[in-house]
Amino acid sequence: MSTTAIPKTKISGGSFLLEERQTADVFTPEDFSEQQQMIGQTTEEFAINEILPQAEKIEHKDFSISRDLLKKAGDLGLSGVEIPEAYGGLEMDKVTAAIIADNIAKYAGFATTWGAHSGIGLLPIVYFGTEEQKKKYLPRLATGETVGAYALSEATSGSDALNCRARAVLSPDGKHYILNGEKMWITNAGFADLFTVFAKIDGEKFSAFLVERTFPGFSVGGEEHKMGIRGSSTCPIIMNDCKVPVENLLGEVGKGATIAFNILNIVSWTVSHKSTR
Ligand SMILES: Cc1cc2nc3c(=O)[nH]c(=O)nc-3n(C[C@H](O)[C@H](O)[C@H](O)COP(=O)(O)OP(=O)(O)OC[C@H]3O[C@@H](n4cnc5c(N)ncnc54)[C@H](O)[C@@H]3O)c2cc1C
Repeated sequence: MSTTAIPKTKISGGSFLLEERQTADVFTPEDFSEQQQMIGQTTEEFAINEILPQAEKIEHKDFSISRDLLKKAGDLGLSGVEIPEAYGGLEMDKVTAAIIADNIAKYAGFATTWGAHSGIGLLPIVYFGTEEQKKKYLPRLATGETVGAYALSEATSGSDALNCRARAVLSPDGKHYILNGEKMWITNAGFADLFTVFAKIDGEKFSAFLVERTFPGFSVGGEEHKMGIRGSSTCPIIMNDCKVPVENLLGEVGKGATIAFNILNIVSWTVSHKSTR
């Protein structure tokens, strides 16, 4: 299923700020397709009827509600909008994803939770997963039964992410990568099931791994006490000889930067192209 209301002009990066544009290039909510308007309305009703009445409890970190809401969003198709239909998603465009994000953003705490799940949480698998990884993980991520997270930052490497200290080595029998290290400020970490974790194989090759919460040697630290978006979970994760099956390497050995930065760029696009209503 795809919609047609995407502007045809190709705009590279931030060039739209510098180059002259015609009125026809400007994309406004009036250009939304009928289908996009319907999804926007469904999301707005979901936000008003389901999310906002729970905001007070979520602010006090009752994340069981956040999980329930992710499940309800999944049932409405709102979390799998960018997942291919073959894996249980709606397979729709970025404008539709931005319309949903715009409406869910009526409450920032849950918008952060939903955004981390449906963006940085699951898109690494959509874009870089093997067929087996997509079949195994995407259907349950689409429904919200599995909650996703993305673990790149560390205490000493935020913007400078490639300087990370997390390490991975192949086990002697070649069946697992053994991960050691700590990631900081990971959204959804308090209750997520699946983490895209970045670590350097043999201390050199920056790579991505799909790490399940239940893998041996994986644990989650305490909640950060933030000044804002207090209704979102932000915790460190700790890997202490964490055993990750080799089939859970995401993408290629040493190509983790392509995954890390493309995913951040894609998600920033969705957030920055929200409608201006
Ligand atoms: C609420 C919250 C949720 C988060 N969720 C996640 C998550 O889910 N997953 C994840 O991996 N990370 C997450 N992060 C971490 C976040 O992405 C990092 O905070 C970010 O990468 C910046 O890193 P830092 O905080 O170490 O700041 P630093 O990298 O230390 O930067 C501090 C300041 O210096 C500036 N700066 C840095 N380098 C340069 C430079 N070379 N030139 C000029 N200026 C520079 C920065 O712009 C910034 O203003 C989260 C953070 C927060 C606060």
